[in-house]
Amino acid sequence: MGTRVYRAVGGVSLSVRPGECLGVIGESGSGKSVTALSVMGLVASPPGVITGGAVRFEGEDLIGAPYETLRRRRGDRVAYIFQDPLATLHPLYRIGDQLAEAIRAHHSISAGEARERAIRLLNDVRIPNAGARIDDYPHKLSGGMRQRVSIAMALANEPDVIIADEPTTALDVTVQAQILALLDDLRRDRGLAIIFITHDFGVVAQLCDRIAVMYAGRIVEEGPTAAVLEAPAHPYTRRLIDCVPELGQGKRRLEAIPGLPPMVDALPEGCAFAPRCTKAVPDCARGDIALERTGTRAVRCLMPEESA
Ligand code: SF4
Repeated sequence: MGTRVYRAVGGVSLSVRPGECLGVIGESGSGKSVTALSVMGLVASPPGVITGGAVRFEGEDLIGAPYETLRRRRGDRVAYIFQDPLATLHPLYRIGDQLAEAIRAHHSISAGEARERAIRLLNDVRIPNAGARIDDYPHKLSGGMRQRVSIAMALANEPDVIIADEPTTALDVTVQAQILALLDDLRRDRGLAIIFITHDFGVVAQLCDRIAVMYAGRIVEEGPTAAVLEAPAHPYTRRLIDCVPELGQGKRRLEAIPGLPPMVDALPEGCAFAPRCTKAVPDCARGDIALERTGTRAVRCLMPEESA
């Protein structure tokens, strides 16, 4: 094993309230998933190590909390939905048994009660004929249905927070729209707090109240979704939005951001976006750039976009 240590994520500060949906957006490798997994200590270790910081849930710091504390919270108060439902579901167990196990891991109820609750959950996520489908194996369901089962599993113990890591990326757009509508209903009906990780601004616009944009393991911009989409302050956010095609807006050049995000073992000095930024000046590469807050907006840039 190598001995070099690299910073994948650092100085990220996020909060989410009951009933609120926070979107975390950025290119692949920007640190979104590592941030999400760190919340409940799920970063594979080795090689990952959390060297500092705090994750406060109801006043309790979960970083460094004993394994039993984390285990009690995981899947009960804080639940995850991952991108690939086939990786969440065990292929050799019926979906009903897997749902019942998720419930009985945290609550001492009978097998019959757990099964009834599992059927209700499948109904909640709009799986047709839930009473019969509960005995299906995962391979008998479509990708969209399997993702609904993953959502049902995340909801099994009525958590306070759901962390959804690109849960619709592998689905076609119509199923994606249904899943997003479902999550939106659930947060409104149950007051769920959702942290939604994505690289898709369309998804963010549909579901999220606030967004945090990540680049090279740091938050570079944060604010209410409508305000950030209307007038992005960070040049990276601006360039990301320019990459999104808009239907019915007439002809325009579809921009791409030249270059690639930096590797964690080769982060440049100062602003990590500088090598790709058209506004970069020598000061951008001269040391740390702070995340400056103004009201509900925050941006980490020496020369934020003027429209913001
Ligand atoms: S700090 Fe400089 S290089 Fe970084 S985004 Fe702002 S203008 Fe561009």
